[in-house]
Amino acid sequence: MTDNSSILSKLNLYAKLAELHDENPFKFKTFTTAAFNLKKIKESFDSLSDNDLLAVPGVGKSVLLAIKQIYETESFPALDECVSKTPDGVVDMLKIKGLGPKKVKVIWGEMQIESVSDLLDACRQNRLTEIKGFGLKTQSEIIKGIEFSISASGKWHYARLMGIANDFKDYVKKQFPGFQFEYSGDFRRCNEIIEKLVVVTTIDQVEFINFLSEQDYPINVNDDEIHSFIEGQIPIEIICTDYLSFERLLFETTGSSEHLNQIEYNQTDALNFSSEEELYESKGLPFIIPEQREGLNELDFNEQNHHFIEYGQLKGVLHNHSTYSDGLNTLAEMAEYANSQKFQYLGICDHSKSAGYAGGLSDERVLAQIAEIDTLNIKMSPFKIFKGIESDILSDGSLDYSENILKLFDFVVASVHSNLTMNEEKANARLLKAIENPYTTILGHPTGRLLLMRSGYQINHEMIIDACAANKVVIELNAHPYRLDIDWRWIHYAQNKGVLISINPDAHEKMGYHDMYFGTLAARKGGLLTKNTLNAMNLKEFEAYLSNRRKVRNLL
Ligand SMILES: [Zn+2]
Ligand SMILES: [Zn+2]
Repeated sequence: MTDNSSILSKLNLYAKLAELHDENPFKFKTFTTAAFNLKKIKESFDSLSDNDLLAVPGVGKSVLLAIKQIYETESFPALDECVSKTPDGVVDMLKIKGLGPKKVKVIWGEMQIESVSDLLDACRQNRLTEIKGFGLKTQSEIIKGIEFSISASGKWHYARLMGIANDFKDYVKKQFPGFQFEYSGDFRRCNEIIEKLVVVTTIDQVEFINFLSEQDYPINVNDDEIHSFIEGQIPIEIICTDYLSFERLLFETTGSSEHLNQIEYNQTDALNFSSEEELYESKGLPFIIPEQREGLNELDFNEQNHHFIEYGQLKGVLHNHSTYSDGLNTLAEMAEYANSQKFQYLGICDHSKSAGYAGGLSDERVLAQIAEIDTLNIKMSPFKIFKGIESDILSDGSLDYSENILKLFDFVVASVHSNLTMNEEKANARLLKAIENPYTTILGHPTGRLLLMRSGYQINHEMIIDACAANKVVIELNAHPYRLDIDWRWIHYAQNKGVLISINPDAHEKMGYHDMYFGTLAARKGGLLTKNTLNAMNLKEFEAYLSNRRKVRNLL
């Protein structure tokens, strides 16, 4: 549909692309000025005469012609020409708030980044801070801009909503002390992607409506539900009820309908409801934690009295980057912070030498890092730093160093970072070869996905997990809230095959360790047991695990 705003966005896009391609500055500045002034016009442009439009500052013959052509063909030749010589991903970058043509030019031209997801990856690896004219501040603004553009899709990463949801809850509870207010739905189930917040509360509906309208929240009431938006764009549905029905409604709105069917929840149950615990008990079932109420295989993995992993049980923090490659903190800072957080050990896994863009370690740098780790380990004992590496899995599936170097590491995380666009057959072959390499300890972020941005390459999960089982390779659950890769839906299968999972933060700065919290939520959702979590081992157990594994793989 052609309306004023779509015309303006095309004029603006053209101005940006023309600047990006170094066209005559006079030309693109005219389009920017015209779009800026045309924005103030309320009437539809096609209801105005040519002379009216030409009277708008910046609108000359070329802009006028472009507007007419947009009405006819939804575009104009100069725009088409610019678009045709720009990768789609670069055009998308120009639509991100705070990213102008000058910056995009550097990102595309100098850094050769051609998609928004690769740009986000680069930000995560602190690569932008190395570019002249960019700094930490620009980098974090770009991340914010990308997040903002993602939320335009109406979906949010769990981690991004968590803080907002908790702040809102605290605020409401301060206004209504003593009342119950709990999130329900997919947020209570800790899904990785959330589309709306659902609340069950004992606050009176009229009072809640008054409270929201006093704060200028938009309100739409539908029977028992109040619909609104927080932070301007996050849909929230509020169900007001009395104390007697609170637990029941919380229960009914938490589990997916598949879960309610699976446990054969019915009207009679609803009548005799005092607590969720009692409900499961009355059905002869173990208590199913809210995270798991998906209607998948939660009843299977709750058969016995299982203990699911908790954040506080993690004893070590594996797969982290330091300033040796693309991290923000030094090795010593990373170690001291891990120690201060009561972790017993740290695994440093900087990038390997093929990852030149991420400061991958040459053989000499590996040796220098090992020497520094030895010194720190003497100083910090009993805290221990393990010598690791995040080795690129090269296109042919091999690891990134010769055996002479590989054997120096305590453990190796093997991950794919390059040539991500490959078919399933190629991806399987590449991963299988890496898994079969005796030096591979952990398979890093198995699909390379970035939630809401990049689906990652397809793999045959059964085949890859089976190979990990056969080769005693641990699978990473990369805990970064954009990754959460391996997907929690595969944890059940992996555990059945005897494969361990490591909840790894892939931290590029010390605060990144706390992402393991989100990894733990995903792991619990997938039913990960404490005993199958690699980094829930204490220092002694982890050392024994590594040395035993070396024996099994004939590496001693
Ligand atoms: Zn990686
Ligand atoms: Zn990494």
